[in-house]
Amino acid sequence: MNRLAGKVALISGGARGQGAAETQLFVREGAAVVFGDVLDDDGKKVEAEIRASGGQATYVHLNVTREGDWRAAVATAVQTYGKLDVLVNNAGILFRSKIEETSEADWDRIMAVNVKGVFLGTKCAIPAMRQAGGGSIINISSTAGLVGSPGETAAYSATKGAVRLFTKSTAIQHAKDKIRCNSVHPGPIATDMIKDVLENRAAWEQRLRRLPMGRVGTPDEVAYGVLYLASDESSYVTGSELVIDGGTTAE
Ligand code: NAD
Repeated sequence: MNRLAGKVALISGGARGQGAAETQLFVREGAAVVFGDVLDDDGKKVEAEIRASGGQATYVHLNVTREGDWRAAVATAVQTYGKLDVLVNNAGILFRSKIEETSEADWDRIMAVNVKGVFLGTKCAIPAMRQAGGGSIINISSTAGLVGSPGETAAYSATKGAVRLFTKSTAIQHAKDKIRCNSVHPGPIATDMIKDVLENRAAWEQRLRRLPMGRVGTPDEVAYGVLYLASDESSYVTGSELVIDGGTTAE
């Protein structure tokens, strides 16, 4: 299986969760992957595992809110593996708080990681992708970027809605450069991000009632969708939304 043979990818937030699953799957499918995070110990572990099994991956420290970190990550991809074909803007944070209780600092922090981070990654990757003759950018939004939530996640929803429309504008502006851009909208996925809900039996039973399939998704179930968008199999797909949510937003 070499659905990404010859491709070079950059993935943010790759030290754990969905980003680590995407990094590992991309390498298994033949890509060379540069992946970044702020969790350097976890990232180095993932890098060592991949290299031990013969895969090509390089971990870099990448705080997505810093343009300099992005420039360095793109340069690492180009210098180490020769080019950049794929960017996955996966890094993100979540906090729960009522609107009236959300501080300005918390609002600014989540906007910086979830929205500015996607903008900066896109901005820094485009010149390298143009140089490579085209590329694919995949932005990880959420079902929270499609519909409102009864949970206390209004700030998070605002960030994921912004990612959804930034994706479409990127797709339109850069179609002429053969750079595609799509968003992915996962429902609840079993990672550290929603550990608090998964570990709280009452909260979890309430959440389960809103899930048609009666279970959360796995990081691999999202990674396979991201793989499709990264590969040439999706060559006519741009500006679109791939919902991976077990039917949660179908009703
Ligand atoms: P996670 O918390 O396991 O992973 C998020 C990763 O992003 C972590 O490794 C974290 O260190 C990294 N990160 C946070 N701030 C960063 C920064 N400033 N710079 C670089 N990296 C940073 O959670 P996950 O579920 O794997 O989340 C991946 C993406 O999926 C996020 O964008 C999240 O919003 C989205 N998402 C998650 C769910 C879910 O239920 N888990 C649902 C829909 C969408």
